[in-house]
Amino acid sequence: MYARRRKRRLGRLTHDLTAAQWAGLVEAWGGCAYCGKGSGPLQKDCMLPIANGGRYTLANVVPACRSCNASKCSTEVTTWLRRKHLDEAAFLTRQRQVLEALTLALPSDGPGVGSESASKAS
Ligand SMILES: [Zn+2]
Repeated sequence: MYARRRKRRLGRLTHDLTAAQWAGLVEAWGGCAYCGKGSGPLQKDCMLPIANGGRYTLANVVPACRSCNASKCSTEVTTWLRRKHLDEAAFLTRQRQVLEALTLALPSDGPGVGSESASKAS
């Protein structure tokens, strides 16, 4: 995925998560990616925080409930999962599966997907 070459500062952040991808993430997880809570509004949580160079992309965003998102804040995801005694391995496995499925179903390369209104109200 991300070829980790030499240390190179990203000159510009690229946030390419589309509305359709976000809707897909919410549906695939079926609730908060961390605690599983399915009710209430879900927020876009960057596993690698923006402050640490993370971006709003399909590979880096998971849906999180307000309390998890607020608790995690700008902590790196695995550090936070350990602190909360959540199942880090299960989360990472699930995240990879969701990502693989959505990468096939909703590639980022398509032009202007975000302009479509994803009306997936439940
Ligand atoms: Zn949660």
